[in-house]
Amino acid sequence: MGESLLPELREPDDREAIRFAERALSYTELAAAAARIAEGIGPARRVAVRATASAETCVAVVGALCAGAAVVPINPKLGRRELEHITADSEPELVLGEPDADIPDALAPIPFHPVDLATIRSGPALADRALPAEPPEESPAFIVYTSGTTGPPKGVVLPRRAVRANLDAVAEAWEWTGRDVLAQALPLFHVHGLILGMLGPLRLGGSLHHLGAFSVQAVADALAGPATMLFGVPTMYSRIADAAERDPDTARAVGRARLLVSGSAPLPAVDHQRIARSTGKQVVERYGMSETIMNCGVRASGDRRPGYVGRPFAGVELKLVDERGEEITTSDDETVGEILVRGSNLFTGYLNRPDATAEAFTDGWFRTGDMATRAPDGYIRIVGRSATDIINSGGYKIGAGEIENVLLEHPGVAEVAVTGEPDTDLGERIVAWVVAAEGRSSDGEALTEHVAELLTPHKRPRRVRFVEALPRNEMGKVMKKALADRGEPGRA
Ligand code: ATP
Ligand code: MG
Repeated sequence: MGESLLPELREPDDREAIRFAERALSYTELAAAAARIAEGIGPARRVAVRATASAETCVAVVGALCAGAAVVPINPKLGRRELEHITADSEPELVLGEPDADIPDALAPIPFHPVDLATIRSGPALADRALPAEPPEESPAFIVYTSGTTGPPKGVVLPRRAVRANLDAVAEAWEWTGRDVLAQALPLFHVHGLILGMLGPLRLGGSLHHLGAFSVQAVADALAGPATMLFGVPTMYSRIADAAERDPDTARAVGRARLLVSGSAPLPAVDHQRIARSTGKQVVERYGMSETIMNCGVRASGDRRPGYVGRPFAGVELKLVDERGEEITTSDDETVGEILVRGSNLFTGYLNRPDATAEAFTDGWFRTGDMATRAPDGYIRIVGRSATDIINSGGYKIGAGEIENVLLEHPGVAEVAVTGEPDTDLGERIVAWVVAAEGRSSDGEALTEHVAELLTPHKRPRRVRFVEALPRNEMGKVMKKALADRGEPGRA
């Protein structure tokens, strides 16, 4: 038996645990509902949860964790092909979801267990239900599927120990306590919204205020009210910056937050600066992934610098290695290497993928595929993913992020993604995919000149392609593979 993952549920009281729109549950109610769900799950070892942004999802996840089952969170918007991949790979014994859920064909063969909060609340007295004993620490808590940004989603097996240790490390770094009310509008099927954003508050005895679909208004209302922290992805902060620049009330509300935290993708430097200027608060950046939960983050009391994700959290060892796998020991903020991590936060492997698991580890270190530099004060700056963000052009290795940040400073650019495409002379040439700012003309020449003026000539895009929108996944990440697959264009 291990240390309790959710100790507050073992001695619950009437403080608010979760709130989804109008529906709130106290710790007492959540513990009772979870106990009921755990009873229903019985001996099942693996359960899928149709992870809508709802109190039912929270109860299902907490109930399954209490039962000692591994949770496979499922994005309710997945298509048949994707669902078939996940269910065939993870073989859940039950599916949990809202009672009126529209169960797609791919899930139909698996027994469905509705999470009906109305009957749970009117059921037998709360005191009659006890939570099962705490499951072993090394048993899996989650099998989370990666975003699929770089390939088909892989099932990441996360033991309970990793979840507990990492949440405690993050809490310490952010001075995060049971007094905090966390506002977020993240999906509950990835590590960010699910583990950090939902189990985080519950482990600490704080409360989660889930805003449903993201809107700046909902964020401002929450932060003007009881919420003390906001967790979001960069696309959300970009919209918050737009609104805060226009509207002083929004700026004031957002500025009340104790912590504004961004992660899951790079936060453009301009958005970091716009938020700081308009609200007086600087965003805390942190870096994590499904396989490792949270790796690094700026501390609550730490210096915030755009693009820097701070230092590793407690229990996380991090090193940068060069192409030959040799450790980079300089901290000059210039030498780029791949990030390798090791520690109590790590997953145990990809489900049914011993090949991918073996490939991902070198001597016990997990190879993240992310490239970064280290500053003299130990701060890590993410340069991009080795697979899609590092462009080999004319003998130079160029990080897409630096060029993206410079392009975003231009008033004609609303959104941008920089990629490399094959070039007979250069190896790869730099292409900028640009969503023009509202009311601005599509002047590619002006943009390449802007880059040439601010960065060395070899970083200038050879081609600018204007698009209506960038392909993004539900976390707001740009799917650069999809851009590259658009093939050889005519010069736009
Ligand atoms: P897949 O592994 O299926 O291709 P994915 O890597 O996008 O998808 P996740 O595990 O959800 O799936 O995302 C982790 C990745 O997100 C990291 O490896 C990193 O590239 C990126 N990331 C996370 N936080 C940050 C950040 N603060 N700045 C820059 N990139 C970040
Ligand atoms: Mg990944």
